[in-house]
Amino acid sequence: MALQDEETQPAPTAYDVIVVGAGLGGLYALKKFSDLGLSVLALERAEGVGGVWFHNRYPGARVDVESLDYCYYFSPELYREWRWSERYAGQPELLAYLNHVADRFDLRGKILFRTALTRAQWLPEAASYDVTTSTGLALRCRFLVMATGNLSAARKPDFPGLDSFRGEWVQASHWPDRQVELAGRRIAVIGTGSTGVQAIPVLAEQARHLTVFQRSPNFSVPARNGPIDAAKFQDATADVPARRKALLQTRAAISSNLGPSLAFAAYTPEERQARLEAQWALGGQGMNRVFADQGIEQTANDAVADFVRAKIRETVKDPATAERLCPYDHPIGSRRLCVDTDYYQTYNRENVTLVDIGADPIERITATGIQTASTHHEIDLIVFAIGFHAFRGALDQVDIRNEHGETPTTYWHRGPRTLLGLMTSGFPNLFLLTGPGSPSVLANMVMMNEEHVNFTAGLIAHMTANGFATVQPDPAAEAAWGETVAQAAAKLLRLGVKNYMVHVNADDGSRIFMPYVGGLDRYTEICRDVAENGFQGFAFGQAGSDAA
Ligand SMILES: Cc1cc2nc3c(=O)[nH]c(=O)nc-3n(C[C@H](O)[C@H](O)[C@H](O)COP(=O)(O)OP(=O)(O)OC[C@H]3O[C@@H](n4cnc5c(N)ncnc54)[C@H](O)[C@@H]3O)c2cc1C
Repeated sequence: MALQDEETQPAPTAYDVIVVGAGLGGLYALKKFSDLGLSVLALERAEGVGGVWFHNRYPGARVDVESLDYCYYFSPELYREWRWSERYAGQPELLAYLNHVADRFDLRGKILFRTALTRAQWLPEAASYDVTTSTGLALRCRFLVMATGNLSAARKPDFPGLDSFRGEWVQASHWPDRQVELAGRRIAVIGTGSTGVQAIPVLAEQARHLTVFQRSPNFSVPARNGPIDAAKFQDATADVPARRKALLQTRAAISSNLGPSLAFAAYTPEERQARLEAQWALGGQGMNRVFADQGIEQTANDAVADFVRAKIRETVKDPATAERLCPYDHPIGSRRLCVDTDYYQTYNRENVTLVDIGADPIERITATGIQTASTHHEIDLIVFAIGFHAFRGALDQVDIRNEHGETPTTYWHRGPRTLLGLMTSGFPNLFLLTGPGSPSVLANMVMMNEEHVNFTAGLIAHMTANGFATVQPDPAAEAAWGETVAQAAAKLLRLGVKNYMVHVNADDGSRIFMPYVGGLDRYTEICRDVAENGFQGFAFGQAGSDAA
């Protein structure tokens, strides 16, 4: 029986683990911790499972890592039985997959939907958190696992005059679960990050007119999407554990690349061009790895960026529009590389206009459209694709307090501080899946979540075996990990670029690159070593003790 059926079965108040979020991380956490024999409850703000793939229903939404990579590996049977229809699955298929997972492993009954975590207070004597929800429930748990996602707290549109708009407006990241009329309408898209780049070609096909408001262009590469052929599927499913192991020995567990690359200088000019063309033809995120040093060497990066800019000019017929679409303000890959289907081609359509709001800023939304400094655009539907409060947005929105009344937000006021991106000092038994300090969004996020859940499960099993009640990072180990993360990022071109992965301290301009950029392969090795050494760097204690 589902726990949400409160009248017939009131939810118990105490659990071993409360998992917050029922996206792909939360679902796997529910399964794994239940398998350990722990009592587990998940809280999910939305009315269904799926996380990002529940909320982001905008037309064109799809994964930008290949479907055969971007799925769970914990169950080889699950891996073999789910047949992805496309190389890059679309949102409906991803959501269907995650619903299938919830049903197949009987997880739904352990989730309270339409229920957000609002407050959690650490109680040292009980070595537990008292948890309050948006629905007024009072719960308690020994372990609080935040599976709340790095890209789940959407930026709200904040344009003057929006209230006066008589048309319709939607947020791509919370696209309504109903028919949004597109055909025959004058549609505006504000934002040209990954979301805008995916939505624009699909919206353009149906709109009477589509006006794209671009603040600054991003690099995009073709997905080369299409059906997954039987041979590829056979190959992927032949030995699932071996495939998983092989992916974890790569930097990001993303297979759409040409394989290992050397530094730019190691190739002749002809070889460089051939590699660029081959990766362009293959499509996907591998354009970030044509040369091993393109993330740190400007010359190598320029070669890739120049190549993509040349492709934009080749594709877009109007030279002025092509030029406006060419990014010059950041190295390629220093913001998330967009992966598209016919993005640049869309600007050859007669019903599409590109407005450069860097040069011609939006002044306000009016009753009938959008007023820029120079022009009034008549609009029926505005689509906001303006991104997220990345990494810590979801955490900042809840009130988690340690025994001294501190919140992670206050502790992180100069940027996130974690051990392995999973725990933060001073907050016992609080786990942050795929948090800052782990490879997180630089890697395939399904595998990243699996790794963090498995590590956490190992940690809890270690505590049970040794009679510990509390765990948190040793402050020295946390500081050392922070140093490791900073060193890994020190030479990155990306560190100097404004993007959602960099925390900037306003007072002194110091910059913290939030994900660990040393690679998922290296990260997995480090986690294995830590676990094998009795979870070195983590401090364990008893209820009421100061040890943790
Ligand atoms: C449009 C889009 C496309 C993406 N494409 C890719 C991709 O191709 N490859 C890739 O690796 N990554 C991609 N990502 C990154 C994505 O974040 C991860 O792939 C993955 O979905 C993360 O899963 P998660 O379970 O960690 O978090 P999420 O999927 O974000 O799930 C978090 C859940 O927590 C819930 N929640 C948040 N706060 C609370 C609260 N206080 N109480 C209760 N519930 C709460 C949310 O409602 C949500 O359901 C994409 C992200 C977006 C937005």
